[in-house]
Order: sequence, then C-alpha cells, then structure tokens
Amino acid sequence: MRIARFSIDGNVAFGAVEGDQPDELVLDIIKGIPFTDFELSGTKVPLAPSESGTRVRLLPPVLPNKVVAFGRNYADHARELGNEVPDAPFAFFKPSTSVIGPGDDIQYPPFSEDLHHEAELAVVIGRMCREVPRERVKDVIFGYTCANDITARDVQKREKQWARAKGFDTSCPLGPWVETDLDPSDLTIQLTVNGSQRQLGRTSEMIHSIEDLIVNITEAMTLLPGDVILTGTPAGVGPLTVGDEVAVSIEGIGTLTNKVVKRG
Ligand code: MG
Repeated sequence: MRIARFSIDGNVAFGAVEGDQPDELVLDIIKGIPFTDFELSGTKVPLAPSESGTRVRLLPPVLPNKVVAFGRNYADHARELGNEVPDAPFAFFKPSTSVIGPGDDIQYPPFSEDLHHEAELAVVIGRMCREVPRERVKDVIFGYTCANDITARDVQKREKQWARAKGFDTSCPLGPWVETDLDPSDLTIQLTVNGSQRQLGRTSEMIHSIEDLIVNITEAMTLLPGDVILTGTPAGVGPLTVGDEVAVSIEGIGTLTNKVVKRG
C-alpha cells in the first residue's frame, strides 16, 4: 500500500494512494494514523486539481523525530569522493527541520557554493524500538520512500561535523509517499537533474544492508514511529544550481521531484 500525507483545504490527513496513471491518482482518506491499526474511510479525493475546486497537496509522508543518515554505503560513491570504504556503518543526523515534501523548494543556503544531490532509499520506522535483533528488523519497518540527502559539499569538506553541511533547512526532501509492501533488496535507484540522468544504482550495491544499519543505530538509541533512516547514495553525486529540477526515482516507490531556489 502507498500511504501519503497531504493537505486538503487546510486540513492535514493521511491517505492510501490508488491508481497507476500520475494524473488519475486518488487518495482514500485514512481514519486515524497509519502507524497503528487504521481503516480506510472510503472517502476518496483526486490528487490532481479537481473540477469541484478542492486542492490537494502532498506533504512530507512522515514528520520524523529524527532522520538518521548513513554515509559511504555504496563503494563507488565512497571512492568518487576519495574516501575509504568504511568497515562499519557510520551515521549522522539530519534534523526534523530539514525535511520537506514532494514539490517543495530546496533553498540554496547562502553559506555554500557547492550544493550536491544524493539519491537515497529511505526506510520509515513503524514502531518504537531499541536494540533490535537482526531477525526482528522487518517488524519495525513501516515502509520505504525516496530521499535526497542534499549536501553543501564545500562546507562538509571544511567542517568536521556535518550539522550545517547536511542539516540546513530544506536539505531532506522525502516522498512522494511511503510504500509499505516492498522488497528493498534490489531496486533501481536513479536521479535526474532537468531530465538528464546523474545517478543510477541498485540497492543491492549497499555495503551494509538495511538490517545492518538498523541493528547498528538501535544499539545506541531508541527509534520512534515516523523516524527515517537514509541508507546512502550510489555514485554520480554532483552539483545543483538555482533553477534546477532534481528528481529521485526508486523502483516500486515513485518519483520525488524538487526545485532548487535561492533562499529568499
Ligand atoms: Mg547521503
């Protein structure tokens, strides 16, 4: 099931996405919140602008308490930036205030001159958990969505901690929705800028598996429903400029598109 979070005439709701054609998608509004038992209301609204004038806008599919991102988890990407492939997973945070949704603008931060895209598979956590054993990892996963780990590469290179380089406002586009029924082990992940392909990889190329990553982070901390794990980016990262349209597509999920603007 694809679960989206959206606003309609000023109200926020979750809905199950039905349909295949992009301009014919319908949202079946969910009663309650999707991390617990929920029901579909049967009240359906079209995602595209409707003749009746209701306006639906997709929002970030979850509001995470924290985004835990793993670095250098694809060997080709680690090497393209001149880094060693790490023996163990290593994590950093992106704050909740970095999250934006599909169609929202990425604001080029004024303290950087080298903003990069990083297409990533995002894992959405479904229940509170700590010290998750490998065989229980699947039980704590709610689903999967697309992410773009937007990075101020110049700032990342000159500052030891990456809080500013990877945590500035709008640096974590997520969406367009969460796919709850998906085998994430071998999916195509690609990124285009203005329609030209920049990144192409498969999730099977991850050095540390999703199980490894969740075991690793929950050794240290509690994850909450809605928390997001970013699983690393394949090779092909590169610069973005103001006016670019950047799109992350993952097989079985969909496409997350955002535009780069100057911070106003
Ligand atoms: Mg990354």
